Amino acid sequence: MILFEEAYDIVMKQTSSLNTEQISLVDSPGRILAEDVVSDVDMPPFNKSAMDGYACRLEDIKNELEVIETIAAGKIPVNTVGKGQCSKIMTGAMIPEGADCVIMIEHTEEIAQNKIKLTKDDTRINIAKKGEDIKSGDLVIGKGTKIKPQHVAVMAAVGCASPLIVKKPTIGIISTGNELVEPQYKPEVSQIRNSNAYQLIAQVEKAGGQPNYYGIAEDTDKALLKVIEKASSENDLTLLTGGVSMGDFDIVPKILRQLGFELLFESIAVQPGKPTTFAVKKDKFCFGLPGNPVSSFMQFETLVKPLIYKMSGGVYKPIVISLPMGAEYKRKRSARKSIIPVRIADGQVFPLKYHGSAHIASLVNADAILTIPIGKTLLEKGEIIDVRQI
Ligand code: AMP
Ligand code: MG
Repeated sequence: MILFEEAYDIVMKQTSSLNTEQISLVDSPGRILAEDVVSDVDMPPFNKSAMDGYACRLEDIKNELEVIETIAAGKIPVNTVGKGQCSKIMTGAMIPEGADCVIMIEHTEEIAQNKIKLTKDDTRINIAKKGEDIKSGDLVIGKGTKIKPQHVAVMAAVGCASPLIVKKPTIGIISTGNELVEPQYKPEVSQIRNSNAYQLIAQVEKAGGQPNYYGIAEDTDKALLKVIEKASSENDLTLLTGGVSMGDFDIVPKILRQLGFELLFESIAVQPGKPTTFAVKKDKFCFGLPGNPVSSFMQFETLVKPLIYKMSGGVYKPIVISLPMGAEYKRKRSARKSIIPVRIADGQVFPLKYHGSAHIASLVNADAILTIPIGKTLLEKGEIIDVRQI
């Protein structure tokens, strides 16, 4: 058995080649940038009016002004603004030559045709200067960034219409267990529904991988050899659930060895998720996750997800929040690191009712997970702890 931190280091030491593709901006959210994005323009691209109003000389604003032109956004001004003059200007339009400020329309009055005067003392300039936000040649978004809507806006503004992104790593998913039936069937007395595969498909998608589901495999050498060989040849990473504990039919590690995988660990000092197994064969990775759904969920969150991010060219940075415990939490044994589901309410953390690693319903209201280190049995009410959002 190894420490969770050692298991994490082993997993994150793995490297894989990244394939890239150019995609449309609209398909880019959630994907990872494979290139630096550099601006091909200044932003704003010209001295721009920040208001609807009148462009004039600051020294003139107390005087009555003659309106010499109307400048719409997108138009190039024709006239230079001279002494005692102004040009009516719209938000986003180019500032005309000669003007050094824009007075807001709300602070003016039309006193005659093409004559205005200021009605409120306001010396704000209301001009956004050329290049004040972004300069042509500036690096605006770095390689490795996971694209969010705000990045899409910046890419659109700087002309990056087809960003180069990292291709999604392909993730094969296999459920093992003779007792399993798919969700659309009513289980017989000795059966249970396969929830892990669907949980994993959803987790993989959310983590930016491409899930490929291979169904339920029976706990036989023949069935497992066949499906693991197929999934691992067709995918960068294969995730199996079940068959990694100490039972007579827990033969996944043996089969992985038979297929030429090297098992880098088979047991972690963590609860839930102790029998989590990680195997490597050349550039192919394989996790044997425990059959209990909460174990599988937690091990995915803490070990598999960071690897999928790495395989996608990114870095997984969990959102960690420091908050006080809203209730006391005790555990009897502390030989393993423990990961429990928690709810966040009124700025405090509340451990959820949790019977153990089969209790998937406890995750329904979970906002975050809380890790309790080895040796620690008590978390006091009010104690400040770190939780990781899920
Ligand atoms: P195992 O690790 O195969 O011994 O499975 C441990 C427990 O998890 C058993 O109670 C299994 O029935 C349950 N289990 C295994 N696979 C799944 C699955 N895909 N969905 C839901 N529960 C499962
Ligand atoms: Mg099993």
